[in-house]
Amino acid sequence: MQQHDIMKISEMIGAYYHAVTPKVHAVGTREFGFGSPEKKIETRHMWFKTDSELANALRKARPFYVSYSAAHYELPAARPMVKKNWLGADLIFDLDAPAHDCGKFTCDSCLEKIRHQTETLANEFLIDDFGIPKNMISVNFSGNRGYHIHARDQRFFDLNREARREIADYITGTGIRYEDFFYLEEAMKNKRLVKTFRGPSPKAGGYHGKIGRELEKALADGKFRGTLNRKLKDAAVFASFMAGVDDGDYDRIKIADREEKFKAIFNDFAKKLPREIDVNVTCDVSKLIRLPDSIHGGSGFAARSFQLEKIAGYMPRRDAAAFGNEPVEISVTEAVPELDFGDYKIGPYAPGAAQKIPKTAAAYLVLKGSATFHGSKG
Ligand SMILES: [Zn+2]
Repeated sequence: MQQHDIMKISEMIGAYYHAVTPKVHAVGTREFGFGSPEKKIETRHMWFKTDSELANALRKARPFYVSYSAAHYELPAARPMVKKNWLGADLIFDLDAPAHDCGKFTCDSCLEKIRHQTETLANEFLIDDFGIPKNMISVNFSGNRGYHIHARDQRFFDLNREARREIADYITGTGIRYEDFFYLEEAMKNKRLVKTFRGPSPKAGGYHGKIGRELEKALADGKFRGTLNRKLKDAAVFASFMAGVDDGDYDRIKIADREEKFKAIFNDFAKKLPREIDVNVTCDVSKLIRLPDSIHGGSGFAARSFQLEKIAGYMPRRDAAAFGNEPVEISVTEAVPELDFGDYKIGPYAPGAAQKIPKTAAAYLVLKGSATFHGSKG
């Protein structure tokens, strides 16, 4: 990045931190790190007693990146690490859109996929399965290709690396197999061996319930029902079948090739699990992660935190915009696809084009290395 671009972005970052003071839960027990365009964490082992001390430092340093520890320490600035005296750590999940040919301009479909996984993780795992109260969960855009979830439930506070690994494995469904959910149960009835095809009840907890409810959803489709057994099109037969399913009995009616059919639903379900979590971030109990509401210096977006309810319609390029809409001039240096910022669109641009676009979009292109600010000598 050219020097005059760095200066200009640095001014924008300064203005942002004059307007926004990140509110940090238990700020005084965290370690902080600041980064530059070259290095995301350039200085670390920093400590701020209060939010306003942090805000002052941000206004002065205008860092391109700000991270803080998920961990809490007695002495956050001490080093080496052991001298900090680790007290515990928030439970963190970092979800990033998987590799795709959209490259550095993450496409809307990638953003949507990862948004959906974040929603599933928060609602169906953290709240439903782990019972974490909603007010202890905060979500923020990572600033680039995904989302972070921070959970502050005391029950998880002092879990070590191995325990956090198990939580991560549970969430990604590591090791779940069809055979653990669908099987033939053998029982003696009137001196005869009776086999019943059993499956997960939608009422069950954990994965059994999740898969059971997935099946229930699939069965709501009349066409799918017809492929299992034509008799299921009859309302009374269907009701009786579903009463069985409710108790995990999938055998009240004969279903041809049931293994194959249920396996297909199981595999579909497994594909939708929040698998794009960075397991290392969850397990590493002294990692520094992006500070919520700080600027991400690779995109110019804010790692803006928001209430979980808002995630359904979240649109990062609109909702995490940080530098406003004042028009600024740029020269495009490489091809840029059309990009939707919610209230406006930019592109597609060919290299060499001069454009006047809103500041947030201009900073994004400059930070992606696809444009340079106009009107200075560089
Ligand atoms: Zn994509």
